[in-house]
Amino acid sequence: MADKNLCVNCGKCAAGCPARIEVPKYIQAYQMGLYYDNIISDGKPIDCIECGYCSLRCPQKINALAVIRELAMRDCVKNSMEAAL
Ligand code: SF4
Ligand code: SF4
Repeated sequence: MADKNLCVNCGKCAAGCPARIEVPKYIQAYQMGLYYDNIISDGKPIDCIECGYCSLRCPQKINALAVIRELAMRDCVKNSMEAAL
């Protein structure tokens, strides 16, 4: 999933996240192709309730919900693979 607009770290997405996810940190890591497992955040992508607030608030029109959902999916796959070992 590509997003042509870059995060400017305004924090508007995280300000009202009911799952207390540090959304900007995940968005920036995603956009830069960086590792995100060690991001410090009360909520993790898997805690996202898909309310869509982050996407609605983003002045850069970044589909933050889609990014968080994708990262949550990656974590689910990773956890499943680790549990199967
Ligand atoms: S969609 Fe998920 S990440 Fe975005 S504000 Fe809602 S709970 Fe937080
Ligand atoms: S609202 Fe958009 S631009 Fe602002 S921190 Fe969140 S993702 Fe980045």
